[in-house]
Amino acid sequence: MQYDQTQTVMVVDDDAMIRRALAKLLENNGYTVREAEDGLQALELVERECPDLLITDWEMPGLNGVELCRRLQQAELPHYVYVILLTGRTDSQDMIDALQAGADDFVSKPIDRDALLARLHAGQRTSRRERQLREMSERDSLTGVLNRRTFFGHFAREWARSQRHGSPLSVVLLDVDFFKKLNDTYGHSTGDVVLQQVARTLTAQCRASDLVCRYGGEEFCVLLPETDEAAAAIWAERARAAIAALRVPHGEKVIHTSASLGVAQRLNDMPTVEAAIDAADQCLLYAKGAGRNRVVTSASMHESLDDIIDERRPMDDVLARDVMSAVVLTVGQHESVRTAAEFLLQLRLGSAPVVNADGRLVGIISEKDLLGLSFSERTWSQPVANVMKTNVVCYDETTTAKEILDFLCRVSIRRVVVLKDGQPTGIIDRSSLVRWIHNWMLAHGQTDADYGVEHCQAFTDTMSNLAHALASRGTELSRYLANLEDDFVPYVIGEATRMQDLINDLLSQCQRTQSIRHLV
Ligand code: GH3
Ligand code: MG
Ligand code: MG
Ligand code: MG
Repeated sequence: MQYDQTQTVMVVDDDAMIRRALAKLLENNGYTVREAEDGLQALELVERECPDLLITDWEMPGLNGVELCRRLQQAELPHYVYVILLTGRTDSQDMIDALQAGADDFVSKPIDRDALLARLHAGQRTSRRERQLREMSERDSLTGVLNRRTFFGHFAREWARSQRHGSPLSVVLLDVDFFKKLNDTYGHSTGDVVLQQVARTLTAQCRASDLVCRYGGEEFCVLLPETDEAAAAIWAERARAAIAALRVPHGEKVIHTSASLGVAQRLNDMPTVEAAIDAADQCLLYAKGAGRNRVVTSASMHESLDDIIDERRPMDDVLARDVMSAVVLTVGQHESVRTAAEFLLQLRLGSAPVVNADGRLVGIISEKDLLGLSFSERTWSQPVANVMKTNVVCYDETTTAKEILDFLCRVSIRRVVVLKDGQPTGIIDRSSLVRWIHNWMLAHGQTDADYGVEHCQAFTDTMSNLAHALASRGTELSRYLANLEDDFVPYVIGEATRMQDLINDLLSQCQRTQSIRHLV
């Protein structure tokens, strides 16, 4: 991080001669100087261009020095302004009042230039330290871009501004591809270097008004004010290409990386910032499913979903139970929050249905709900029913998948629960749908004749990779089962689910190959 060395000082005095003399002295000592002739003018200037330090006269017409201190304290400024009050007063009650109003230091009149410069120097130390601390608390320490908390503060302000003026606002969500593999292959510290380079690349693509944030481990979120989705897509494509062009040296080797990006703009029916991020998140998920290293915009995603739905109508006879992830375990409403947390962690689930004694759905508990809780023993030992969400969107097993797809495309809710006779039997979230669509596309996709024998070869290679992955998971699982531990159920379920995913992929590759063989 860099801190600029020249600091800005605002000189406020109604006496033009004193003001000019002070300004000259400060300029000769390397400061950038702004001048104001009274408190009100000073406030106006501060709002426009906030100085690091401010030297003000006490007695002034309109707003005096002490009143100015008070107003500065109340103002929402981007950083702290260190205030030195010039005064001929020596009465201690006056001093107390001024300190209480927010003055940091005094210089008595007539002004001794050395004393003034020394005091300014002290103020400069304070203001630098404040800036360092602020930057540290606002930025991610690894990459130097904004952290989530600060980003959301700015985002909310930009959101309100965009709503007020009807100006466009877009958000881009980016996730580095196969980053886990990169870490596993080259080590975590090389992974860190890649993240730093990605952050730097993104920042380099931005205008001053754009904001880049580290959204999670290898995820970044970029806010583009005054930019509609089409323009944001162009920006994102440039960022994607720049990341794909990165070359990170690692010993003798050079590492390449890539990222997938989702782009969405603020729409008038979006209630909150989160809705726009959710929309970008859906696009990101779609970009991952479609092969990674690509940009997907909300508009293009809906277009291709519409194509699938309207032209091929694959989902007409597909029911909720065909696309849902089966619920293997539920949480009893009287179980503790701690038990629910352990459950989610062990099964690596984002959420789980909560049921009553009859096994009927009463709510849902998600990782997000747990993150919002306080870190107290009392909170964590209370029944999960106290903290779960009760307004769960449910569908019967026999609802068409299309209806649920339409619903999840429209709203910011991430998942719905599938019921049979009131009992939860499955969960459908966006990733289950995208996975289903993706597999369907592979199985029924365009069977144009331009898919030749080499494609069959590519599919056979993919299948052999899948079979390989399946075999090593199987070996691992049997090794685990040989030394059975007490709480083996979650582990086995987790592994089996992953094997099931691999099998599904394998089957869809088979179907795909079959349809191509048919053609050639
Ligand atoms: P995908 O293409 O689907 O996104 O695959 P992926 O491997 O990138 O996805 P996943 O989300 O499973 O992996 C993210 C990894 O990022 C897991 C975690 O260990 C790693 N990670 C998170 N934060 C950091 C970090 O600060 N430094 C490093 N080196 N790795 C991190
Ligand atoms: Mg005066
Ligand atoms: Mg990720
Ligand atoms: Mg990733």
